[in-house]
Amino acid sequence: MELASHIHPLSQMYGYPTIQSLNKAKFKTGDDKWNWKSSSKGEFIVAEIRSQIASQDNNGSEEEWRHWNKWVPPKINYFTWRASVGRIPVKSELIKRRIPINSNICSRCNAQEESVNHAICGCSGSKRIWRDIVNWLKLPSSTEFHECKDVLEYVKDLPGSNEWKKVINVVFQTTMWNIWKARNEKEFEGNNRSENSMVESVMAESFIWLKSRSKLHDIVWERWVDFNIRDIVK
Ligand SMILES: [Zn+2]
Repeated sequence: MELASHIHPLSQMYGYPTIQSLNKAKFKTGDDKWNWKSSSKGEFIVAEIRSQIASQDNNGSEEEWRHWNKWVPPKINYFTWRASVGRIPVKSELIKRRIPINSNICSRCNAQEESVNHAICGCSGSKRIWRDIVNWLKLPSSTEFHECKDVLEYVKDLPGSNEWKKVINVVFQTTMWNIWKARNEKEFEGNNRSENSMVESVMAESFIWLKSRSKLHDIVWERWVDFNIRDIVK
């Protein structure tokens, strides 16, 4: 495909088959519809979910909740929130809850205990994904995350507009979500997802979220893969 010659090296490496299909994708205007299982009417109501979380998690607080980002789907916000308060079913958490499992060792690296922060940030495979994402976003190459909270807090102190920070947050939440999906594929199906395909998924999904859920309709895929959006994002 011709397009690959002048865009980001990552895209050359990964050889996107979907460049044209992504640009042609049409998204309905108006809000996405979600059925929220735990709500009586199937509606997602932030206040209701917030109170559910508060009642389930003693250390949950409004402090973490400020990272709610309407440009990513509620299920991803909810996942990253739970990850940041240590409430996703990694092995160390299952053991704490006396759920019988064979080993507390991470299946992806086979080396360290699988805690929440190990799975999302510290595992060697996760670190490589974060490195690629950080490079793609043109953030300082020294950027490293040790905890899920670091990921969500990171942009806070960077120079840049709120809109740009919100875009970075979209990508970061999508990255956390994809790392967790890959973890589950490995854990339950024995599949090893390549890091390249995961980075590709993060790029594609975050692009779709922005096109469909934000006001940044002018973003095009060819520029998104180079993260060349400074004139579009205020
Ligand atoms: Zn690991």
